[in-house]
Formats: sequence, C-alpha cells, structure tokens
Amino acid sequence: MSSRPLALVTGASRGIGAATARALAPTHDLLLGGRDAVALEKLAVDLPGATPWPVDLTDDGSVTAAVTALDLPRLDVLVHSAGVGLLGRVEDTSPETWRRQFEVNVVAVAGLTRLLLPALRAARGTVVLVNSGAGHTARPGWASYAASKFALRAFADALRGEEPDLRVASVHPGRVDTEMQRSVVEQEGGRYEADRYLRADSVAAAIVSAATASAEAHVSEIVIRPR
Ligand code: NAP
Repeated sequence: MSSRPLALVTGASRGIGAATARALAPTHDLLLGGRDAVALEKLAVDLPGATPWPVDLTDDGSVTAAVTALDLPRLDVLVHSAGVGLLGRVEDTSPETWRRQFEVNVVAVAGLTRLLLPALRAARGTVVLVNSGAGHTARPGWASYAASKFALRAFADALRGEEPDLRVASVHPGRVDTEMQRSVVEQEGGRYEADRYLRADSVAAAIVSAATASAEAHVSEIVIRPR
C-alpha cells in the first residue's frame, strides 16, 4: 500500500478537475471522479497512483455504494470540481433547471462530503470547493448558477465551523478556458476568447496550494481572476 497522501478529485474527466489531478499526481495517490469512464481511464494511464472512480454524483444510491466500496481508512484531500453552469434570466429558468443546478453544484457536494467525513477526519484532511466569482456576485442572467455557488460558500463556512480538524477552502475563479466556459459563452451569445481567460492549470495551482499548505496553515478562500 502506498505511503503517499490520497486525494479524491471530482470532475476529473476534464477542465479544472483534470488539471488539478495532474497537478496533484507527483505527490498524491488519486481517485479520479466523473461520469465519463473512458476519459478517466485515459487520464489514469498518464498518472501513476491514479484510479478512476466513475459515478454520477447526483445518484445518491450509486454514490453511497461507490464510497462504501472504497472503504477508505483516511482521505487527505477532497477536491469538489464537478459542476454545471446553466445560465438564464429568472423569467426563462424552469424549476427543473434550478433543481439540476442545485443537485450537482450543492446537494451532491454535501452528500459526498458527508459520506467521506470519517476518512477526512482520520487524516485531518482538506476539503477544497471549486466555487466561482458568481459565489460572491450574482449578475443578471446568472441567478440559478450564482445562487448555487452562494449556497456552496455557505456550505463551506458551516463545514469549517463544524469540523475543527478539517481545513475547508473555497476557491473562486473568474472565467477559465474549459468546456464549461465554452457553453457559458454560447449561452450568453458572446464570442469565445480563450486568451482572455484563466488556464485550468492556473486554477489547479491555486487549489493545490490550499490542499498542500503547511500543517499549521488554513487557507479558507482564494479568489483568482484573469489579469
Ligand atoms: P467542465 O469542463 O464542464 O467539467 C465539469 C466536470 O464536472 C466534468 O468532469 C464532469 O464530468 C463533472 N460532472 C458534471 N456533472 C456531474 C455529475 N452529475 N456527476 C459526476 N460528475 C459530474 O467544467 P470546469 O470549467 O472544469 O468547471 C469545474 C468547476 O469550476 C465547476 O464547479 C464550475 O462551476 C467551476 N468554475 C468554472 C469556471 C469556468 O470558467 N470554467 C469559472 C468559475 C468556476 P463528466 O462529464 O465525466 O460527468
């Protein structure tokens, strides 16, 4: 059994999650979360010490079974990067969209964290929540996404207070060059300008800095924006 610390990264099949997995791989064994098992297998081939962990995080029964099957004695780092970005004005946003956004961005995060608490406590581990600039400011057209990220920030604050042995970091990136941002720009009807956005690697570096801060340090929030 490896003596390296263990990290579980959700949303590792692409974007910020995949970049975070790559950035943690030199120092951590990894569980790679996502639904796209083929993408996770491909990434795992590149990263020694990485194991795919494919599960739909909105399927409570599957998540419980998948966590139970892991039987983790300890977990050093949990990075929640899985998320959806569904835009729309309030007048155009259906209850179904509100529910979907909250199911993935909030309820799934809370559910998975809860199941992993014993392993996190055993390691005095770090939970990193990939939030957003929209977790601080709700702009027109962003109500349900921003509300989900405000809720995620509330979750982080409460968890930090309840679990003194854990570190809980909220990371708030601006626009990042990923598939989600392509979809966001398309929903906005704008033009995609990759060189004006953050690189996923840059956000991953911020996440890793929170996860690997020296033992006495608790990084609680990082805001990172394109220059
Ligand atoms: P992305 O490229 O669209 O990747 C999203 C990830 O979430 C994928 O790996 C996807 O995996 C996973 N996912 C979605 N629904 C899931 C489900 N039901 N179960 C399991 N996994 C699921 O997005 P990204 O840009 O990397 O975003 C990552 C995080 O950063 C999100 O929380 C997002 O809100 C936040 N963020 C992004 C930006 C940006 O500009 N891109 C800015 C600020 C914050 P599968 O498809 O394999 O399921």
